Amino acid sequence: MRFDDDSGLDISEIQDSRGEGGGGGIGGRVALGGGGLGIVGLVIYFLFSQFGGGLSQPAGGLPGLESGGSTGNNTSLANECKTGKDANTKHDCAIVAIVNSIQDYWTQEFSRSGSTYRKSPTKFFTGGVNTGCGSASSDVGPFYCPADSKVYIDLSFFEELRTRFGAKGGLFTEAYVLAHEYGHHVQNLTGVSKKGTGTGPTSGSVRLELQADCYAGVWAKHATTTPAESGKPLITDVTQDDISRALDTASRIGDDYIQTKLGGGRVDQSKFSHGSSAQREKWFTTGWETGQPAKCDTFSARDLG
Ligand SMILES: [Zn+2]
Repeated sequence: MRFDDDSGLDISEIQDSRGEGGGGGIGGRVALGGGGLGIVGLVIYFLFSQFGGGLSQPAGGLPGLESGGSTGNNTSLANECKTGKDANTKHDCAIVAIVNSIQDYWTQEFSRSGSTYRKSPTKFFTGGVNTGCGSASSDVGPFYCPADSKVYIDLSFFEELRTRFGAKGGLFTEAYVLAHEYGHHVQNLTGVSKKGTGTGPTSGSVRLELQADCYAGVWAKHATTTPAESGKPLITDVTQDDISRALDTASRIGDDYIQTKLGGGRVDQSKFSHGSSAQREKWFTTGWETGQPAKCDTFSARDLG
């Protein structure tokens, strides 16, 4: 993936709260609130069950964590990340550019269908963060909180994907993850989020997650043709290697893979919340090949793959 050197970056879509609070060791101390907090993550339910922690009840939050309402401090991003050229050389700036591209696409797609997309920030944090959905530690992985409409990410998760999940990694892995989380934002705007309940192979949760994977594929398809404010696409190049990295990641975060490799070693479909690895690859591919959000109707699909 490459970025157009001359296109401007919009850092207002990022809230940089790294280093404001949290720190290590939070996961073990946070009691899991009674469920139903409504966050949607990439692998989050697994991590709950694996480590017995992650999110607390919304009220109160944890002492020492920066508040979810804070907008962070973007000074260093503002100095570093001005153009696509910066995105081609600096990792943080590449993340800014990816978020910009994803939201440019959905703004234009909503507009084409006669509705309005509301942009929503991605919040960078380290260690732990208070959100509109409760306090979260990095253990839960990247997630979207419908209550405050923000994407939350501790960028160290991508290192974890390589070391713990065995993923190939690479920048397009990160693009896939962010596009998946923005898929949840789209679902929040369209009202489909509330259908994402229950567990099991055909549950609403699985259908919601597979749709977010499909939406990620749809964005990937349009990434190099979606004009930014400059009139030119911010992303100039998405290669087959990029797509294979997204699919590799999808194959590492399916419920069956996680249960087998990182959990108890046995597949228990009744606990599925995100879909199998094969299903996650299939739905990303559906989005990538068709480029049509309407093809991502996992809720009507009789066969999820
Ligand atoms: Zn998700």
